Order: sequence, then structure tokens, then C-alpha cells
Amino acid sequence: MDLTTMLESTCRKFPDKEAVVYGAERLSYRELVAASKRAAEVLRGLGVRHGDRVAVMTYNSPGFVIAAFGAWRAGAVLVPVNHKLAPPEVEYTLAHCGARVGVASADLRSIVEAGAPGVRWLYTEAGGESDPARDFDALVEAADEWEGVPVDETEIAQILYTSGTTSAPKGCRHTHRSIATVPPYIAATMGLDRDDRFLIAMPIWHASPLNNWFMTTMFLGGTAVLMREYHPLRFLETVQAERITAFFGAPIAYLAPGQLARAQGIDLASFDLGSVRRWIYGGAPIGAGTATQLAQAYRSDAFYQVYGMSEMGPAGTALYPHEQVSKAGSIGRAGMPGIDLRVVRPDGSDAAPGEVGEIWLSGDTRMVGYLDNDAATDEVFEGRWYRTGDVARVDEDGYLFIVDRTKDVIITGGENVYSQEVEEAIRPRADIVDVAVIGRPHPEWGETVVAVAVTVGGAALELDELRDYLADKLARYKIPRELVVVDELPRNPSGKLTKHVIREAVLS
Ligand code: ATP
Ligand code: MG
Repeated sequence: MDLTTMLESTCRKFPDKEAVVYGAERLSYRELVAASKRAAEVLRGLGVRHGDRVAVMTYNSPGFVIAAFGAWRAGAVLVPVNHKLAPPEVEYTLAHCGARVGVASADLRSIVEAGAPGVRWLYTEAGGESDPARDFDALVEAADEWEGVPVDETEIAQILYTSGTTSAPKGCRHTHRSIATVPPYIAATMGLDRDDRFLIAMPIWHASPLNNWFMTTMFLGGTAVLMREYHPLRFLETVQAERITAFFGAPIAYLAPGQLARAQGIDLASFDLGSVRRWIYGGAPIGAGTATQLAQAYRSDAFYQVYGMSEMGPAGTALYPHEQVSKAGSIGRAGMPGIDLRVVRPDGSDAAPGEVGEIWLSGDTRMVGYLDNDAATDEVFEGRWYRTGDVARVDEDGYLFIVDRTKDVIITGGENVYSQEVEEAIRPRADIVDVAVIGRPHPEWGETVVAVAVTVGGAALELDELRDYLADKLARYKIPRELVVVDELPRNPSGKLTKHVIREAVLS
């Protein structure tokens, strides 16, 4: 089904239920559908035609939601853009996707105009002070309703950019059908339903908040409570005030309230968080100690982990509440309902318990391919499978533990070294702030292991000292043969180390 039909179908069931809550603002499904019809008319008036791309770069706000459903109704393709990008990154993304019309938060005006001055930008949350011809909210308010154009479910609905961890961000092209397929998979995995009030506090332009949580809420007829930007104290206040039943956050979103509470002497137990039935985290694993600590701090054992990626919409795997401590650090045992999973050896056969292999996923949520990059698409597609580029170890019970990215595995003297394992062994050193481990091409060994580290205050550190430290922690072949001390390591806006940038800087 196409996404306009999906929203209308929910509206027919629950016209007066709250669809979107943002502070004091409340939009019922009926009001959201009407706003999307007016937004479609605004976009049409700016020349947006069937198949055109519309960029939306905002904080979490009703403007994002109304622009998205308006764009789909007008037959356009939604391009969600990271609101933390700098002007050159905005320039790259807007040029790559070819959008000529965009909706941005008014706070981002100087950035989007510097990055993409040729795009016709409209501003949401403009507070009535801006140029009326560019005030998205006011234009939508005043427009007539337009039913839009008929859209086939096999047409492209979204271009979802990856985080740009292993190379420049790639645009994943998803159809209406692949996006509409994520919600039933997610609802089945998490047991979400129409009574859920989901707090969307992670950036809504990102694959998981947008398609796993926001779209699933719209599919079910639940309520999406939008928080403009995550803040630890406001997060707790909102959970309590809005009787939130489900939340998704990076592990740090769960740990930050505790840190703030300790710093400011706030008693976490004074917040009533008892309405929450699902505490969901993803993007990174947590250890057994943290899992136990979170269960205590939130007085709940309803923690779920999700693993996925933009290419899969981003459905993938889940780790369930009863597995949080016994299988801490794992991403789960199998694909979620609807997702098929294999762990594959280099020769294409299935990895056995105890072995390591690449995770392959298959399911109807898979993208149709990258935008303007058939070579990259061919590299990751293997028949119906998507090769994730994530390397995992399978334990004796079949649980998967991610050990590295395929592109970051170092092969030295025929042995595989997982860069993340070496980084984790180094990280506890008190004199090291950040570290990345990469391979340097070597004529005899294939590659040698190189540690690139940021030290406290830029202090000198000798290779021998680091090697001694690791001697009883790692096998000899994993221990770095070279140490480079740098001022800073590059990370992308998701906080992941961009090793292709580090390799270029250190190895050239
Ligand atoms: P790029 O594809 O541009 O290099 P990226 O892969 O970081 O960037 P995303 O699609 O945003 O872009 O992120 C998906 C990746 O994030 C996964 O392939 C995996 O490596 C990592 N990831 C996602 N969920 C988890 C999780 N629960 N635990 C560990 N890693 C995860
Ligand atoms: Mg990726």
C-alpha cells in the first residue's frame, strides 16, 4: 500500500485519536490528513511534480510530519536530511538527491541557505517573523486542500541516506511498499498496538525513529509524541506527563538522566515512569553491567535492543527483555518476523556456532538500490539478500555478537584481526581519550595493525608501552605494530568513527 493510503486507512479507523503531540499542540488523525492535503497543495504551488524529490531538514516537529505526508500525497519522494549537517554536507546531499524544494527548521536557515542556495526553502517553526512567502506553517494553514495524485506502491517514497561511516553517505531508495512493510514487522517484534504512545526523541530524519517508530505508530493508530530534541530531564518529564508507553533511544539516552541526576542531585525515583511498556535501544550494544543497571534505574525489565540499517528500512534483529543480561552485547538470535538472516563464511556457506561471518539479511523492507550508484548496489546485493558488511560471531546458542565491519577487518599474516576488539582492549587505558585501529598495507604480511590514538592533553605515548599493556589481553598478532598519536579522530554525526577518513589521513 502507498503511504497516503496507509494514513487515510488509519484515519478511517480512528479519526479523532491523537496522531501527533508536540508540546501543547495536538493533531488528530483527521487533522493530520487535512494538513497533509494542504501541504500537498503548497508543494504543488511551488512546482513540485510527481516523482520530484523534496528535502526535509528539521528538528522533531509537526512540520516534518506534515511535509512528509504532503510530499507523498503530491507524488513526491521524501528526502529526510540530517539537521546537524554543515553547509558543505547540505550542498552534497541536496545536489546528490536533486531536490529543488526543501522544508527546514527556521533555526537552520543560515546553514541551508549557505549550503544549498539554489533550493527553494520553506521554514517551519518560523514564529511568524519570517518572510510570509517562506513560512511553511502559515502557507499550509492558508492553503486549500488537494487530494494529490494517485501513487503506485512500487514507486520510490524515500531516499534514506546512510550515516557515512564506511564511505560517503549513500542514498537508499525505498518504495512506498517497502516502507509500509516495516510497521507490521516492527509491531510483531515489539508487540506494539494502537494504544501505544510512542515518544520520538531521537532525530526523526534517521531511519529507525522515522520508519520503525513513527511510521509504525501511524500504521497502528497510536500517538507519536514528538520531542524537538532529546534532553535528559525533559525526557523524563515528558514520559510522565504524556503517559508514554514506548521509547527508543541510543544507549546514551538512557544513561544521561542518571548522570544528570547525580550531577544535580535529582532523584530519578521521583518520576513516575510506570506507563512505559517498552524501553527500546539500538545503534550500539550495551554490556551486562549496564543492562542490569538500567533495569534498576528504570525499575523495568522491558528492555529491547534493535539492530538494523538504512538499506533494510531499517528492520533487522531484536534482543528481547529476557535475553538482556544473559546475552548482553548480542544483537539477538535471528531476523525479526519477516526478516530472514544468515551468517555467511567467505566461501558463501553458513557459519557454524563459534564461528565468525558476515550478516546477510533478506525481506520485503529491502531498498531497491542506492541512488546513482549501481556499482555499490551490486556489491551489497546477492540475489534476495543484502550483505550488511557487519561481521558477527555466533555463540553456541546461535546468538550474534557484532565484532567489526567487513571493511575494517585487518588481515595480517593470514589471520583476521577485528579492529573493534583491539580498540576495546586499548580503550580502558586512562591516558587514552579515543582510539581507532586500522591496517597498513604490507608487502609480506598483507597488512599490519596500526593504532591511531588521542591521548589526554596530547601527551606522548610509546608504542612499547602500549604493546606491554596489551601483552596479556590480546594474541600477539593482534597487538599494534605502529602507534600514531593525533589531536582528534573524525566521527560522523551518529558518533561513529569514520575509518576511511582516518586511513586517508594516516596512511598517505
Ligand atoms: P555507511 O553505510 O554509510 O557506512 P552506517 O552503516 O553507519 O554508514 P546506518 O545505516 O545509519 O549507516 O547504520 C547501520 C549500521 O549501524 C549497521 O550496519 C551496524 O554496523 C550499526 N548498528 C545498527 N544497530 C546496531 C546495534 N544494535 N548494535 C551494534 N551496531 C549496530
Ligand atoms: Mg552501512
